[in-house]
Amino acid sequence: MRPSFIHSPVNGLFEDPVVYVQFLYEKRAILFDAGDIDNLTPRQINKLTDVFITHTHIDHFIGFDKLLRVLLRRPEPVNIYGPEGITKAVKGKLSGYTWNLVEEYPLVIFVKELVGGDLKTTKFPAEQRFSEVPVDMKQIDNNILLQEPLFNVSFARVNHGIPVLAFAIKEPFHINIDKERLKAKGLPVGPWLSHFKTMIREGRDNESIEVDGRTYSFSELMDIVRLTEGQKVSYVVDMAPTEENISAVIELVEGSHTLYIEAYFLKEDADRALQRNHLTADIAGYIARRAKVKEVRPLHLSPKYRDCPERVISEVMLSFRAED
Ligand SMILES: [Zn+2]
Ligand SMILES: [Zn+2]
Repeated sequence: MRPSFIHSPVNGLFEDPVVYVQFLYEKRAILFDAGDIDNLTPRQINKLTDVFITHTHIDHFIGFDKLLRVLLRRPEPVNIYGPEGITKAVKGKLSGYTWNLVEEYPLVIFVKELVGGDLKTTKFPAEQRFSEVPVDMKQIDNNILLQEPLFNVSFARVNHGIPVLAFAIKEPFHINIDKERLKAKGLPVGPWLSHFKTMIREGRDNESIEVDGRTYSFSELMDIVRLTEGQKVSYVVDMAPTEENISAVIELVEGSHTLYIEAYFLKEDADRALQRNHLTADIAGYIARRAKVKEVRPLHLSPKYRDCPERVISEVMLSFRAED
């Protein structure tokens, strides 16, 4: 079964880390970080519904202005997720402009800030000149920031001298119906199948289902189902190389198909990495290996290695492929 989204980095290895995730069956995309996004077309930006910000250092947030400018006349709202302080950061950005002529614009910016175990939502509607309107505060379950039928986005908290978020997007699993088995059981194709799929997704295994006037138990029907693993993509940047960070991130990115991860310094500059609260290429590869990811894609390299990016990449790969 085809995955429901594709993903790619927006910039080169030495530019701001940004990953664009595009859904295949709807006009929709999400973004991990909003540093320099000049490489995105307005058309790509217009598809963005949710933007996940790791932290508001300038190389991860300067693209907010471009985002705002492109989305200004869009009727669909945009959600900005981020660590503690993100509401203040968005408010600060918005207050840097004069908004007396935007009351007819439909855009509403929802900011979703992680505060302890809660998600605090605040909105900034253009029709109110982007003034701050508190919406609600909701408890977060299982570190899931956004739960949708086709995917969810979860987070881990890491430390980079300041709190930073790491993210993972995951499809729950694909439910495929084995047509041969369906036929063998004398069952028809029909709307009941999508109802049954919903029951599987929601784990309602004690319920029964009626097909053509006959009642089946959940387990009776499970042998027509083939479950395949959904796609998982993770995004990890800017964190100190501490035990605590490393284990939090391994847990988050476990089993990812693709892990985007910063490889800021070489191992030989490990003391610099510690000082600057960044990972080394070696540790990035170690995280990928321990989390059993299928593919690791390094990004966010220090400009120091502009002449030798291959050294950084091969350090990641060597560590990723090492034997335990
Ligand atoms: Zn940073
Ligand atoms: Zn950075």
